[in-house]
Amino acid sequence: MTEIPLVQIEGVNKWYGPLHVLQDINLDITRGEVVVVIGPSGSGKSTLCRVINRLEPINDGVIRFDGRVLPAEGKALAKLRSEVGMVFQSFNLFAHKTILENVTLGPIKVLNDSPADARQRGMALLERVGIANQAAKLPAQLSGGQQQRAAIARALAMRPKALLFDEPTSALDPEMVNEVLEVMISLAAEGMTMVVVTHEMGFARRAANRVIFMADGRIVEEAPPEEFFDHPRSERAQDFLSKIL
Ligand code: ADP
Ligand code: MG
Repeated sequence: MTEIPLVQIEGVNKWYGPLHVLQDINLDITRGEVVVVIGPSGSGKSTLCRVINRLEPINDGVIRFDGRVLPAEGKALAKLRSEVGMVFQSFNLFAHKTILENVTLGPIKVLNDSPADARQRGMALLERVGIANQAAKLPAQLSGGQQQRAAIARALAMRPKALLFDEPTSALDPEMVNEVLEVMISLAAEGMTMVVVTHEMGFARRAANRVIFMADGRIVEEAPPEEFFDHPRSERAQDFLSKIL
């Protein structure tokens, strides 16, 4: 028996007014797969992430997560959101909560974990991303790299089946990029299903099973990282790579 892909995107189209932002997107993501999405600014990468956990509705097509069509609202939507963690460029931590509270709030409120359990798990996650000693601080007291690692711990605290990363290192000072990528590489090695929008080619080569190249709302090319970076087939991809490498 073949296993159902964790994410199934079939014939998806989305418009913002007249702008056809996702055009006939077909994409299956299997369990444990790491998919890196790259492409020029405005090509629809963030929108693709946002439709997967239904932060944005689609106009046409179907998206299934774990075999079920994405729910539009209510408890089923809240459950889906807890199963698909998202890490943004801008960290998005709760500014007036401590780092540990940031990590325990969701599990207590949404998963009904006891505060003691949530704290214990939360500390273990902060340990895992290397910032256990920052637990009692407020986000603003941490470096950008530490804040992004806290955001990853917060996403993991919800025990997600998949994690979406939208340019997680783009807002970081260069010296902090690697500490975040190392955490992501270890998650990939542990079998987490991940969709990662990034221009970090070193990460893509090390961690990705597949690279998706998007332009103008379409998937123009998809290939294993070595093949994509060494032998891009389309002119769009060749042109894009010549500008960023
Ligand atoms: P990327 O992440 O690849 O830079 P996005 O998915 O953010 O691309 O955006 C794709 C296109 O959709 C862009 O032209 C952008 O301006 C447009 N867009 C994104 N969000 C909205 C929105 N909420 N309303 C209208 N247009 C949007
Ligand atoms: Mg984007």
